[in-house]
Amino acid sequence: MPLKLLEGDIIVTKKKHPCGSFEFEINRVGADFRMQCLGCGKQIWIERKNLEKRIKKVRRDNEEFKKDDLVIKDYSSNY
Ligand SMILES: [Zn+2]
Repeated sequence: MPLKLLEGDIIVTKKKHPCGSFEFEINRVGADFRMQCLGCGKQIWIERKNLEKRIKKVRRDNEEFKKDDLVIKDYSSNY
């Protein structure tokens, strides 16, 4: 199931980046996503599928969401 992800979201991943950070900011949303590591600033391109697998939680507008909260249930109208 796809997740609703927006530019500016902070992703907390299950595995850490080599620099030690678990946090990434989404800079671009699409078939491929671009995100920036908040530890070292490195930009990473990643497929939606792979990104969704890595996500543990998402921070948006000072709120924290679990993956389940972000699942798009009405899939056909959004995609
Ligand atoms: Zn990093």
